[in-house]
Amino acid sequence: MNMNEKVRVRFAPSPTGYLHIGGVRTALFNWLFARHHKGKFILRIEDTDLSRSTDESIRQIIEGLKWLGIDPDEGPYRQTERRDIYLEHIERLLKEGKAYQCYCTPEELEQKRKEALAKGEKPRYDGKCRNLDTPPPGRTSAVRFKTTMEGNTVVDDLLRGEVVFDNTELDDLIILRSDGTPTYNFVVVVDDATMNITHVIRGDDHLANTPRQVQLYHGLAYQPPKFLHLSMILGSDKARLSKRHGATSILSYRDTGYLPGAMINYLVRLGWSYGDQEIFSKEELIEKFSIENIGKSAAVFNPEKLLWLNSHYIKTGDPLRLASYLRPHLLNEGILPESQASEISVEEIAKVIPSLQERSKTLIEMARGTEFFFAKEIQYDEKAARKFLIPSIVPIFERLIHMFEKSENFDTDSLERIFTDITEKQGLKLGKIAQPVRVALTGKTVSPGIFDVISLLGKERVVERLKMGIRYIG
Ligand code: GLU
Repeated sequence: MNMNEKVRVRFAPSPTGYLHIGGVRTALFNWLFARHHKGKFILRIEDTDLSRSTDESIRQIIEGLKWLGIDPDEGPYRQTERRDIYLEHIERLLKEGKAYQCYCTPEELEQKRKEALAKGEKPRYDGKCRNLDTPPPGRTSAVRFKTTMEGNTVVDDLLRGEVVFDNTELDDLIILRSDGTPTYNFVVVVDDATMNITHVIRGDDHLANTPRQVQLYHGLAYQPPKFLHLSMILGSDKARLSKRHGATSILSYRDTGYLPGAMINYLVRLGWSYGDQEIFSKEELIEKFSIENIGKSAAVFNPEKLLWLNSHYIKTGDPLRLASYLRPHLLNEGILPESQASEISVEEIAKVIPSLQERSKTLIEMARGTEFFFAKEIQYDEKAARKFLIPSIVPIFERLIHMFEKSENFDTDSLERIFTDITEKQGLKLGKIAQPVRVALTGKTVSPGIFDVISLLGKERVVERLKMGIRYIG
C-alpha cells in the first residue's frame, strides 16, 4: 500500500439508536489506522434519515467515543448541514446528462414492483423517464442516477480482494427524492469524496452498497477510496450480535463498571490480532496496528473474556487513575452522597483502592467494596451479625480496644503483633477473632484483608466501631 498519501479515515454512524459494540469496533479500527499512519480521523454523523435520527443518539455516540478516548481530529460533521453540497453535485450530474428527473409516482412504481414480484422477478426501475422529451405536467420529480447496467463492477477490497458484482442486478438509483432529500448511498459518496477520505473501513453489511457507490464515484469523476469491509461480530450462538446476547450499547459497559482501557483492548481483538498477545496498551496498539493483521472470519463476542480483561486492568491499574473512574460509581451506588462527593478527593478515594484491586472484577464491585471506608455508620448484614457478634466475643473486643488505644503505631506489622498476642494468650485461631472484627468494622463477612481494613479506617474509627459492636451485642 502506498502510504505516502496522507491517511484520512472516518467513522460515519447513523444516529438511529445507541452506539453499539460493532460500531465502536469500526470506529476503533479507523482511529488506530489513522493514529498509526499519523493521518486524520473524522467523525461524520449520517443523519439524513430525519425520521429515525435523534439528538439523544448523537449525544450517546459522542459520549461513548469520548469515554473510550477515540477522539476525532475533525467533526462531528452532520449530513443535515451539508445539503447545499449534495444539491450542487446533483445539479452537476443533471447538467452533464448523468442523471435525470423521474416523474413516476409512488403508485406507478408500486404497481410495477408488484407486477415484477408476481412474475418472480427482482423489482427494478424500468427506466421509463430516462429519455423523456417532455415532462408530464403538474408532477413533482425525483432525480435518478444513470447507472451502468451491463458488465461488472469490481470492488477491490483490502481484506477480501476483488469482489465482482453483476451490474445487470442494478437499476437507476434515486439520488434525490421528490420531497427534496438526497438519498443515503449518494450522500456517503459525496461526503467521502469531498472530505478526501482515503480509506473506507466499515462493516461488511455495507459491502452490497459498494458497487453502487463506485459507480457514483465514476459518475462524479472522483477517485474512489480504498475499501475494507470488516467481518461481522457474532454472539456465542454464532448469530449476528444483537440485544439478545445482552448489552451491546457501549455506554452500558461504562455504567456497569468497565474500564475504557479494557474495553478498547477487548474490542481490538474482535477481528485483529498480533501473534497470540492479548494485553495491549493504547500506545502499543497505535504502534502495532495494521490492516494486514485484520482477520477475514467473523469474531465471536465473549463477555467472560471482556470481564477477565477488565479485572486484569483493575488489578494492574494505577490507584489514582482508577479513583477517577470509580467516583461516578460511588455516587450511583449511593456510597458517597452527592453533597459529600465533591469534598472527597481522588487521593482519598485512591487510599482504599489497593485493598480491593485483587478482588474486584468491575468498578461496581469495587465501589461496593469501599462501603466500609466511606460509610459514616456501619449497617450490619443481619446474618453476619447474628453469627459473629455474640457475647463471647465482647472480652476480645475490649482487649483489642485497649491494645489499639495504647498502640503508637497503626501499621499492618503492629496490628499483626497485637492480634498474635491475643490469639496466643487465648489459644485461639486468628480467624476466630478476625471474622467478628470484620463484621464489626465493615458490617459484612467479606472485605479486604482485616489488617488493611483496620489500618485504612484508622484508630479512632476502629475503636468507635468495636464499641458499637459491643453495644449491639449487649
Ligand atoms: N451510516 C452507516 C452506518 O451507520 C455507515 C456508512 C458507511 O460507513 O459508509 O451503518
